[in-house]
Amino acid sequence: MNWNWPTHVWQLRDISRACTNIHIGQRDAIDWRRVGGSFSFKLAWESIRSSVVVVPSGKIVWFSSAIPRHPFCLWLTFQKAHLTLDKLHSFGIVQSSLCPSGCGQQESLDHLFFECAFTKNVWSKALKLNNCTFADASNWENTATWALEQTLGNHFHR
Ligand SMILES: [Zn+2]
Repeated sequence: MNWNWPTHVWQLRDISRACTNIHIGQRDAIDWRRVGGSFSFKLAWESIRSSVVVVPSGKIVWFSSAIPRHPFCLWLTFQKAHLTLDKLHSFGIVQSSLCPSGCGQQESLDHLFFECAFTKNVWSKALKLNNCTFADASNWENTATWALEQTLGNHFHR
C-alpha cells in the first residue's frame, strides 16, 4: 500500500516527500475534525488563521456594498498613506509640492481633501447631500475623530 497525498495541495509536498520511504501496512486517511464535532470550513479557517486586533476605522472603511476603490482610498487616508506632492517632494521625486489646481499652496493630505477651494466645495456639498451636520470638516484629524465617534452604536450614516 502506498501513500496517496493530494498533489494539488502544495502545503503537503514536504510531508509527501518525507513519507516516501515510510511503509504503511494498512489503509489510512487524513481527517480534520473538532473534538466532539464535525468538520466545517469555517472552523478550519478559524483554527489556522492568525487573528488580529480590529482597528476602530474598520467599521467606517470596509463594508459589503462599497465600491472597492472608495474604501481603499479611505483606508489610505486613515493610514495617511496618500502620495501627496508634499511627500513626493520630501522624497526628492518631484520638483515642486505646489497644488496643481493653481491655488498657490502646498499639496498635502489636508489641502487635498479640505483646504483647496475645489475640494472644499465638493466636500461641503457631499456633507449637505448626506444631511451631515459636521461643522468642523477643516482637516483630516477632526474628520477622522468625528467619524470614529459616530461608529459607536449602529447609527453611523455612511
Ligand atoms: Zn489647492
